[in-house]
Amino acid sequence: MSVRKICVFPGDGIGKEVMREALCVLTTVEEISGKRFFETEEELLGGACYDAHKTPLTEQGLSLARSSDAILLGAVGGPKWDTLSFDLRPERGLLGLRRELDMFANLRPAKVFEPLLDASPLRREIIEGIDILVIRELAGGLYFGEPRGIRMIDGVETGINTEVYSRPEIERVARMAFKFARERKNGKLASVDKSNVLESSVLWRKVVAEVGEKEFPDVPLSHILVDNCAMQLIRNPRQFDVMVTSNLFGDILTDEASMITGSIGMLPSASLGGKVALYEPIHGSAPDIEGKGIANPLAMILSIGMMLRHSFDMPREAAWIEGAVERVLAEGYRTADIYREGHGSKVGTSGMGDLVREAMRQISGKE
Ligand code: NAD
Repeated sequence: MSVRKICVFPGDGIGKEVMREALCVLTTVEEISGKRFFETEEELLGGACYDAHKTPLTEQGLSLARSSDAILLGAVGGPKWDTLSFDLRPERGLLGLRRELDMFANLRPAKVFEPLLDASPLRREIIEGIDILVIRELAGGLYFGEPRGIRMIDGVETGINTEVYSRPEIERVARMAFKFARERKNGKLASVDKSNVLESSVLWRKVVAEVGEKEFPDVPLSHILVDNCAMQLIRNPRQFDVMVTSNLFGDILTDEASMITGSIGMLPSASLGGKVALYEPIHGSAPDIEGKGIANPLAMILSIGMMLRHSFDMPREAAWIEGAVERVLAEGYRTADIYREGHGSKVGTSGMGDLVREAMRQISGKE
């Protein structure tokens, strides 16, 4: 296998802290295998990039991302940049990157780790065995639709955003969701919309149904309104397997799904569709805990696992990482966000990283 080039954007806040641990995990994969698989190159993105270059994404950063085999991102943003105009804000750097690279689907697995069952705000019997994959449309919808802005209309200050979805945009994300559902054991797909109120959702529902009928008749498909879906995720989340939904609904539902599993610090994500995929934790830059050495690095580390699986066809190495995370949690080690007084041992960011790497060595040594 040729050496894979990885573009690394540590980003802002705890993004830099969790990225450090994740990159060490990559080195451990090479150390265990005795081979050089990866070449990494770092660039600025978000607030750090604005501070250095007065833009949240440079041409140089974009071109490195374009020419890489995969992209890793920590997180961007923070209060320091909240007063900037929208087009200069850190989050615009990330949106621009996704758009330029045509990443139209964001995959967010929400899986409950057995040792963390009691860290969820929901009762154990409701969440046991949850393994949901949410596929969020990422390149269209309300976050990109035109017209947008704040302007005076008939003398009244008015904020405007527009939800726009074309047939091809819906078809491509639906196709991807059906494919993932087909690959899973007893896979089924739920398409989430608001077709009782929004025309864009009426088209969404029609197109998803057509793609299912024509190309994936073997995959069971259901449609659910987003308000009901938000309720069902709390009431009976086990009914869901793969979900596909729009940019806005996906943004909200994936945060809800993540809390069911215990902590936002546990969940990785992948943005796919274009030539190169981007892997990042679902959490933000957590300015409230920046610099304290207590951020949970597991979502970032599990994002490395997703990258090895989806971009590099290295399922064995991905399994070392996932198995190591399970083992460390089963042994009772917890970062502050998932720690409960009197249960297990509290560790910091780098302590958790060290434990995962040690567990990877043990797991791979037993193969
Ligand atoms: P956040 O995810 O950064 O934090 C929410 C809460 O979860 C905070 O209390 C934080 O301490 C905690 N938390 C998050 N990740 C954690 C981890 N790994 N370990 C332990 N605790 C963790 O969301 P926010 O506070 O709404 O946003 C902060 C900034 O991040 C904002 O500027 C926002 O725009 C940005 N953001 C960026 C991304 C991204 O880069 N993809 C995603 C979401 C938010």
